[in-house]
Amino acid sequence: MGKIVRALSEDGGVLCSAIDSTDMVREIALLHESTPVVTAALGRMTTAASIMGAMLKYEGDRLTLRINGGGACGTLTAVSDYRGNVKCCAGNPKAYVPPRADGTLDVEGVVGQDGSLTVIKDMGLKEPYVGQIPLVTGGIAQDITSYYAISEQIPTVCALGIVFGESAEIKAAGGYMIQVVPPVSDRSVKVLEDNLGKMERITQLLENGLEPEKIALTVLSGLGGEILDSWEAVYYCDCSRERTLGILASLGKKEIARLAEEQEETEVCCHFCNKKYKFSSEELVKLLKE
Ligand SMILES: [Zn+2]
Repeated sequence: MGKIVRALSEDGGVLCSAIDSTDMVREIALLHESTPVVTAALGRMTTAASIMGAMLKYEGDRLTLRINGGGACGTLTAVSDYRGNVKCCAGNPKAYVPPRADGTLDVEGVVGQDGSLTVIKDMGLKEPYVGQIPLVTGGIAQDITSYYAISEQIPTVCALGIVFGESAEIKAAGGYMIQVVPPVSDRSVKVLEDNLGKMERITQLLENGLEPEKIALTVLSGLGGEILDSWEAVYYCDCSRERTLGILASLGKKEIARLAEEQEETEVCCHFCNKKYKFSSEELVKLLKE
């Protein structure tokens, strides 16, 4: 089970959300049969989307994070509900780029830097909120920081990490996001900066087996930080036969008629969970009449 923890400084000016997304990322690797470098990209992105989604207020609110950097993995999409339950997909989960000289996975290389990061928040209003920024590095954490600075004017620190074992198995995954909410005192900012300066890299923290509670409280040490809430979040796809039929309907009458005529059965595969839905040509003809 993934776990999200949120902690707030005593003065209410610094919020830290931390997540253990190990199980989510294992599920991603299993479902998408992605190469380790794409698993790392999807894993970082989904970890971020889960934290960002958990900031939504109401049941039914959804957040979509999309990155299109022009790299070999194609467009990456992650969707989170308001409890941080997530699903994701990649244009090309089998994409490969060689590791860097130091042996680390070249996430920036597979994502690319020539493109954009888009955040869509569907909060049940007439129009969803859409924010878009040009990618900074393609490494995802910095791109998220840049998104909050440019699109939402919220000073944010984001750290995301996936730790692989020797045979490319996922040992740990997680991350944290810190947001500074005005009015915040200069002292709080100074203490926070000192804490961050002293903190180890996220992959090291995860490797040391540090729990999200501990990470959040370490970020807020000296600031009277307290855990606000914590709960479990999972990789979860909410696709259904009905919803898939709706997607088919959106292809337009001409395309549906063509499918109904050309084949007895039309198969639609969900990109998020690989579930296959089959529709007979009679069902499609019925759809045409609706
Ligand atoms: Zn699905």
